[in-house]
Amino acid sequence: MNSTQQTQRPTSAELDAADPLAEQREAFYSPGGGQLTAYLDGNSLGRPLKATSAKLASFVEDAWGSRLIRGWDEQWMDEPITVGDRIGVVTLGAAAGQVTVGDSTSVMLYKLIRAAVDAQPGRDEIVVDRDNFPTDRFIIEGIAAEKGATIKWVASNPASGVRTTDLEGLISERTAVVVLSHVAYRSGFLADAAAITAMVKETGALMLWDLCHSVGSVPLELDAWGVDLAVGCTYKYLNGGPGSPAFAYVNASQQDRLQQPIWGWMGADNPFGMTESYKPAKGIRSFITGTPPVLAMQPLKDMVELIASVGMDAVREKSVKLTEYAVALAEDMLVPLGVEIVSPRNTAERGSHITVDHPLFGEVTQTLWERGVIPDFRPPHGLRIGLSPLSTSYAEVELGVTAIRDALTELL
Ligand SMILES: *Cc1c(COP(=O)(O)O)cnc(C)c1O
Repeated sequence: MNSTQQTQRPTSAELDAADPLAEQREAFYSPGGGQLTAYLDGNSLGRPLKATSAKLASFVEDAWGSRLIRGWDEQWMDEPITVGDRIGVVTLGAAAGQVTVGDSTSVMLYKLIRAAVDAQPGRDEIVVDRDNFPTDRFIIEGIAAEKGATIKWVASNPASGVRTTDLEGLISERTAVVVLSHVAYRSGFLADAAAITAMVKETGALMLWDLCHSVGSVPLELDAWGVDLAVGCTYKYLNGGPGSPAFAYVNASQQDRLQQPIWGWMGADNPFGMTESYKPAKGIRSFITGTPPVLAMQPLKDMVELIASVGMDAVREKSVKLTEYAVALAEDMLVPLGVEIVSPRNTAERGSHITVDHPLFGEVTQTLWERGVIPDFRPPHGLRIGLSPLSTSYAEVELGVTAIRDALTELL
């Protein structure tokens, strides 16, 4: 980039001033006393909303403290489905009755992948990519061992992600289920979910999308795309807090066909019937196992409503502008120092984070954390800059990339 282009680029102050979502940042808690200069890890743990403290206090006093055990009958038994429906309508493009909230993402992956394999007799292969998040790969290794199934590994370009062409020759009439991340956790590559889903379904396999890095940052159309199954985190872009529960989407057309493998009383037909043996509940409720994590579901509700108030399209527009700005700054300040941008340059193929690589980034990240600049580090050399659209300012991005440059320069 030459100097004329540089001067033409708007400053972070100008970008913040023109940002239609700028005022939403006020909704998030921010520690005082200079503890935080730039938070660039909302893709790993979203910041709390200011409303969350009051929400939890009132839950303790009014719901738990006052209603006590009556709360289960009055509201909490339905909470996994009512909260799931809101996540579905606001962020997933899913009609009601297809989403439930509970467990961790890992456990939800197990339940859905195992159910998918069980429902496809004669199909003994599971397709997953080598660069998928470790838990996704590990869960699949476990299921393959349990079921005597074979894993077909997709080899894709690690600096981007899985494309339809990478799946050619791998999916067949032997494929039970294909498991891919919609936004790759390392590169930020945004897969073409509509095209891949159509291709997978053509072979009679089931398609499961891991939405951990896309829910709340990228608009989703699960129903329209014909997706069978999906799981995702609520502590990343849904700001549910550390360990907040996962969600699972099971397309209505698959709910009677699929039986999840962890049979507990809360997913049974009549939980308080204390019956002799397990009979699954109807519909999405059968994907529940034990007592739902009601307390841990409270914070994310406000974030889902905040997203609803602005709309996912506005969220995505800001996300695209933030990553474009981060890429431009990285090109100016980091690439000259030997840093490589290992995320897609095409915004249509990028989620809400970018990764930059340098052999010294492990050390750099430690220095940055001490300075209140918080990206994260993914071995071997990746520094991830996560840009949570509703809570991140352009000024934060500039401060962050400048701090990365300074910390790296000190070590060179
Ligand atoms: C964050 C993340 C997970 C996390 O799984 P947990 O069970 O919640 O720890 C799983 N898959 C992907 C792709 C992720 O990004």
